[in-house]
Amino acid sequence: MSASWVVRKILTSRNQIQQQQQGTGSIHALLEKAQYEGKFSIQKMYLLLLPAYPRVEWRHLTLHSKMHPRHKFTLWLAVRRRLATVERLQKFGIVVPPDCVFCGQGLESFTHLYFACHITRGLWSRVCAWLGYQRQIQN
Ligand SMILES: [Zn+2]
Repeated sequence: MSASWVVRKILTSRNQIQQQQQGTGSIHALLEKAQYEGKFSIQKMYLLLLPAYPRVEWRHLTLHSKMHPRHKFTLWLAVRRRLATVERLQKFGIVVPPDCVFCGQGLESFTHLYFACHITRGLWSRVCAWLGYQRQIQN
């Protein structure tokens, strides 16, 4: 069984700190950067430890200020493929019927729900058409 998300995040952060120590020379230099008005700032340290990812075009979807927080969170889960699909629930040991609730065929996974299921494919096509997007649902 793999380590939990929290443990993996802690190990990743430890590696980032070690890499920054090699780049900046010491942990003292990093702590100096994390100061605000002479005091240690956990906010500055957090911002220093955030990894720098390239900006993606769809970032405005998740950063849209008028979006309901629940929808924003669900979108964030979908982008990170963390939605509670049957496939993921089975990984956690939760026993649920494996078939897709829409079509009854195939394992209900992220890929099936968003790209392979003929019923949800029709739904997504109609939603895209309603929003004015003219594109094919692809994998
Ligand atoms: Zn289906």
